Amino acid sequence: MDHRFKELLVLRDAKENGDGTVLKITTKGDTVIHAISVAREGFSYTGPTWTYLFESDGLTLIDAGEAGSLPRLEDGLAVAGFKLQDIDRVIISHGHEDHDGAVSELVEKADIEVWAHEIYAHLQAYDPRTISRRVISPIQKEMWRVADLNRSFPPTSPQRDEYVRRRQALTIDHPIKANETIGKLEILHTPGHSPDELCMKLDEVIFTGDHVLPEISPHPTMKAEFPPEIKANLPDSYKDADKWYGLSRYLQSLKIIVDFGPERELLPAHRYYNRGHFNFINTERAAIILDHHGQRLTDILEKVGAGEVNLEDLTRAVFAHRELLSDNLLAGLSEVVAHVEILEEVGDLEVSEDGVISATGVSNHLGFLSALQA
Ligand SMILES: [Zn+2]
Ligand SMILES: [Zn+2]
Repeated sequence: MDHRFKELLVLRDAKENGDGTVLKITTKGDTVIHAISVAREGFSYTGPTWTYLFESDGLTLIDAGEAGSLPRLEDGLAVAGFKLQDIDRVIISHGHEDHDGAVSELVEKADIEVWAHEIYAHLQAYDPRTISRRVISPIQKEMWRVADLNRSFPPTSPQRDEYVRRRQALTIDHPIKANETIGKLEILHTPGHSPDELCMKLDEVIFTGDHVLPEISPHPTMKAEFPPEIKANLPDSYKDADKWYGLSRYLQSLKIIVDFGPERELLPAHRYYNRGHFNFINTERAAIILDHHGQRLTDILEKVGAGEVNLEDLTRAVFAHRELLSDNLLAGLSEVVAHVEILEEVGDLEVSEDGVISATGVSNHLGFLSALQA
């Protein structure tokens, strides 16, 4: 598939996976967007982080790449004809290390305003794992039991600790409220992959961060509840974590993108170029991911069948063996849990206190999906 921008020029040639690529895109509304791919230090399945630079009531950068990658961002900016000091603001698409990791380095070197969704500002004081590792249901308890048993742990390192510390110290100059605009840029809150995920619309373009990606389906969060010490410090409108976490929320946020119609080109944060070719996508990609999760709900319900099944067996039935090797098991388990949570909520599945899954004999998720896609 080809792109539908007015023009796209390659300013610097891509490596096989897109590391270090710099593009100059001109939209149909004559906005110039520089797409700068910031390579990662080690191997990364998702590949480099694509950052985007454009003028909209000030020179605006979306994301900065992982911690330690500032020299690579600077290098890409130079190819586009800019230096750090030219940038007025950086907008964090969401609070994951491959997007906001280099922001603290960026603001140490240049006077740049930091913008992020206001829930980012409310949660940045805490290690994200304080929330994501909090067990709130029998199925989540079972997930951690199986992960521990198989020694599939969330990766930890001194670098991660340093990232969490620097993120806590970062000042958010402008906490973004839903549906703000800056010049021509319209900001949308699309939680689900992350509670603070933002998509941004400019002319025919939607910047999608990790919300919609080519080639891979973004990892949805599981349901969550804020621990009391965090909840106590949140404004009332943020206390209900159901609004920001879980697959159901993610699917609703995908629908927001689908509803913009097929003429919108998407600029994602990963895989825009991979294996020697571009992956141009439009809103149809959001519909495909939505459909993929719908089919997975049906598939999981079928695999549970008429009997009882445990989470590990169910996960091994859903994914191929090679997809669950080493630390990937936890990712596979949490993906299945996110789907089981919807099936349990609509009444298609029941989960016992000790985490055993059984079907109730109804398929209410089909109604849930058609209501979502209407
Ligand atoms: Zn992410
Ligand atoms: Zn990412």
